[in-house]
Amino acid sequence: MVEPILNKPASEWTAVDIEALLTAPPETHAAICRRADELTRKRHGDRVTYVVNRNINFSNTCSIRCHFCAFHATHKPEQFRLSVADVVAKANETPFVSELCIQGGIDEAIELGFYEDLVRALKQWKPTIHIHAFSPQEIISLAAREELGVGEILARLRTAGLDSIPGTASEILEDDIRKLVSPRRLTAGDWQYVVETAHTLGIRSSATMMYGHVETPLHRAKHMVKIRRLQEKTRGFTEFVPMPFMADNTALERANLVRPGQRVSFADVERTLAVSRLYFDDVIPNIQTSWVKTNIAFAAGTLRTGANDLGGTLYEENITRLAGGSAGEYTSPEEFQNAAARVGLTAVERDTLYRIKN
Ligand code: SF4
Repeated sequence: MVEPILNKPASEWTAVDIEALLTAPPETHAAICRRADELTRKRHGDRVTYVVNRNINFSNTCSIRCHFCAFHATHKPEQFRLSVADVVAKANETPFVSELCIQGGIDEAIELGFYEDLVRALKQWKPTIHIHAFSPQEIISLAAREELGVGEILARLRTAGLDSIPGTASEILEDDIRKLVSPRRLTAGDWQYVVETAHTLGIRSSATMMYGHVETPLHRAKHMVKIRRLQEKTRGFTEFVPMPFMADNTALERANLVRPGQRVSFADVERTLAVSRLYFDDVIPNIQTSWVKTNIAFAAGTLRTGANDLGGTLYEENITRLAGGSAGEYTSPEEFQNAAARVGLTAVERDTLYRIKN
C-alpha cells in the first residue's frame, strides 16, 4: 500500500495518498521514517540547523479566544499589555539574538501605529535584527480594525521594518475543524489570502500545522496539500512546522472534545514529520521539529525521521508552557549541538532565511 505511493513524485500525491502514509500500519513505520531520513540526508547531509532567537508576546488580551489556547486571558487581572519600551527592554536582555519572534493576542485596543512603532523601535535598537512578527490572524484583524486592505497593512509594516511573518493561526486549513477549535478565527481561505499577499510583497513566512486535537488524518493531509499548492505558486514558505497539540488548560479539554491532558504520541509525531519530509522535500526543504512541544532529546531523534531543523532557542516561551508543556522556555545552542551530536549530526546556527551563520 505504501510503496506505490512512495514511488510516485510527491507533486502527484493526493490527500488520500498522504492520509494512507499517515495511517499506514505500525510495521511500516520504520521503513517510512528510514525513507524520510534518506531524503533528508540527501538534501542536507549531516548538517541540521537552529536559530538563536527570542519570543516576545506583547499582549495576552484576545477577542478570538481559540478553544485550544491556554495563553489568552479573559479577565482583567491576568491580562497584560507591554508598551513599545517594554518590548525593547526585553529584547535588550538578549542582544545577541538574530531574530525576534513577536506575537500578541487580538487586542482590539491596539492600533496599527503601535505595530509600526514597535517594529521601528526594534530596528532602531538593532538594525540587523530580523523581525519575524504578527500572525495572519493579527494581520487580518488589524486590517478589519483599521478598515484597510491586508496588502496595505503588510506594506506599511514592511516599510516600518517587518522582515517575515509566522505562519501560525493555520491550525488545520479546513473550515469544519476551524469551527470546532476556534469559531472566531480567520477562515482557511483568509489565512491563505494573507500569506499569499505577504509572499507576493516579498514578506516570507513559515508554514505550520497544529495537529492531534479533533481533526482526522485526512484533514491533516488536505492541509498539507493546500500548503504545497501555495508554495508551488509563491515559493514564500521558509519551512514547514508540524506542531503537536497539547490539551492542558484549554477549552477543548474543558468541553471534553479532547481527553484530559491529551498528547500526540511520539510515534505520531515521528510519522507526521516523516510524511512531511517525503511530501514537501522538493518544494519546502526545511522541516522543523518542535522541542517546545516534546523535549530536546526526542526532538533530536526526529532529526532522523525527516526533520532538519530544531527551531529557535526562544528564551521566553509562554504559549506551550501554559498548555502543559514541560520542555522549558529556552534551549541553548550548546544543548542543540550536543543533542544533534547524539544522533550523529552536526547542528549549526542559521538565520531566519536558513542562511548558515559563520
Ligand atoms: S491562539 Fe492567538 S488568537 Fe487564538 S486565543 Fe490564543 S492568543 Fe488569541
